[in-house]
Amino acid sequence: MAISLAVKRAIRYDIIQNILRHYECPPSCHSHCCSKGQIHMFEDELKVLSSLDPARAGKITTDSNSPSLYLMQAPCSFLNDIGRCHVYERRPTVCGMYPFKVNTSGTTVGLQPCPVGYLIIRDFASWIIDTLSKSDISPEERSVLVDEWKKNVESYALELSEFHSRPVLMEMQIPYDELGMLSMFLASRNSGK
Ligand code: SF4
Ligand code: SF4
Repeated sequence: MAISLAVKRAIRYDIIQNILRHYECPPSCHSHCCSKGQIHMFEDELKVLSSLDPARAGKITTDSNSPSLYLMQAPCSFLNDIGRCHVYERRPTVCGMYPFKVNTSGTTVGLQPCPVGYLIIRDFASWIIDTLSKSDISPEERSVLVDEWKKNVESYALELSEFHSRPVLMEMQIPYDELGMLSMFLASRNSGK
C-alpha cells in the first residue's frame, strides 16, 4: 500500500474531508497555506506530482530533517496565477487536510487558527457546549466548562488576528475520536441549509 494511503487511514483523512466540506476559504486569505510555509509530501505523492507536471515538481527536494519526506518550499510552484491549485485533485495529504496538521502524539490532530481553522474551532466549541447542555453534570460544573470553552474560542480569535503575520501559532489539539462526532454535528446542523 502507498505510504500516503496508509497515513490517510491512520489520521482519519476521510472524516477530515467530511468536516472541511462545510467550509470555504475566504478570498482575502490569498491562499496563505500554499504561498507561505513548507509543504511536505511522501515519495508516492512526489511521483504523482512529477508525472503530472515535471517542470513545477522540479522545485521539490528531499527533506534533510526527515529523509523519508520531500519538501516544496513556499510559494508552492503548483499555485497558479489566479491563486488556485494546479493539481487540486491529486494534491498531497498535507494540503488536503490543512488547516488540520498531523503531530507526533498519535492521538490528536492539530488545528491551525487560520480563517477556516478558526471557524472549525468555534464550531467544535459549539458542539462541546451543546453536548454539555445535554449531559447530567451539575449546573455549576457545566457553567465552569462552558466559560472555559468560551475563553478558548476568544484566545483562538486572537491567534487568528495574527495568523498572516506570525509564523508560529497556538494550535488546537482535537482527539481523533472526536473528529467523527464533530463531523456528524456539522452535517446535522447544516442539513437544512
Ligand atoms: S486553509 Fe486556511 S490558510 Fe489556507 S487558504 Fe484556507 S483559510 Fe487560508
Ligand atoms: S500542491 Fe496545491 S494545495 Fe498543495 S501547496 Fe501546492 S498549490 Fe497548495
